[in-house]
Amino acid sequence: MATITKAIPAALRLQGKVAVITGGASGIGQETVKTFVAHGAKVIIADIQDAAGEKLARELGGPDTARFIHCDVSREEHVAAAVDLSVSAYGGLNVMFNNAAVTGPVGPLDQIPMADFDRAYGILLKGAFMGVKHAARVMKPMQSGSIITTASVSAHIGSGPMAYTTFKHALLGMTRSAAFELRDSNIRINTISPGMIWTPMWNQLSQAALNKVQTLSFFPAMKTSVSHQMAGPDCIANAALFLASDDSSFVSGEDLVVDGSHMLHPEDII
Ligand code: NAD
Repeated sequence: MATITKAIPAALRLQGKVAVITGGASGIGQETVKTFVAHGAKVIIADIQDAAGEKLARELGGPDTARFIHCDVSREEHVAAAVDLSVSAYGGLNVMFNNAAVTGPVGPLDQIPMADFDRAYGILLKGAFMGVKHAARVMKPMQSGSIITTASVSAHIGSGPMAYTTFKHALLGMTRSAAFELRDSNIRINTISPGMIWTPMWNQLSQAALNKVQTLSFFPAMKTSVSHQMAGPDCIANAALFLASDDSSFVSGEDLVVDGSHMLHPEDII
């Protein structure tokens, strides 16, 4: 009988890799920064929260391991600079995690100010696209790379603020199209769709909900306890680790839903 041997799994799944993580100063991004560094990666933390981003980089060992760059993802020159820093500081870019987001305008769609809609577009969709664009610029000559974008269960169903839901849906289409185009350059691109993850974004949203009673029509479950449906950001960081690492080397153009099955039970979803 043939002997089946399996390689001993490497403890450090991102040893020697370099990642840029947008929205890395808080919540899911912050947890992913920590996870990637723990797995041997060098990380550029790209965010608009300077104090939190600088502090995180220091706590993780400073410039040899992690660097912060002020980066508003709605500005192309900022996104390009974050990508360029990965090359100048650490010699390349293996993983781009487009994760920064805001909840965008809430309330009835006929009352959404177009300036708020445009700002949400600039961060949620255009910002993510510019991450893909500039990552590809660096990854194509390297003929390898993994690009990950944080979508949402709101990319699948019509619950959530209108602009947020619209742009999160669009991220799936962008990813599928890019996966086809980037395949020949050996660049993989996927999305992760988190369910309800306990992060500071919820403070933002629940405050908005408190401020705008109309929001409750979008979020009926907010009237009840949602805590039993929520998970910690480590669940998403681990999904990002899988998609960033060579463990997922044949996975591209896919969306990984991480929501504890709640999307399958729409009455559960807010
Ligand atoms: P968070 O508010 O903790 O983190 C978002 C980060 O993005 C913050 O650090 C913020 O400073 C940064 N950011 C905002 N605007 C930016 C800009 N213009 N440029 C650069 N950075 C900017 O929220 P989170 O829950 O960790 O969200 C991370 C991702 O997960 C987002 O894409 C969000 O849509 C997605 N998501 C979250 C949940 C959830 O339940 N928390 C569910 C589904 C999807």
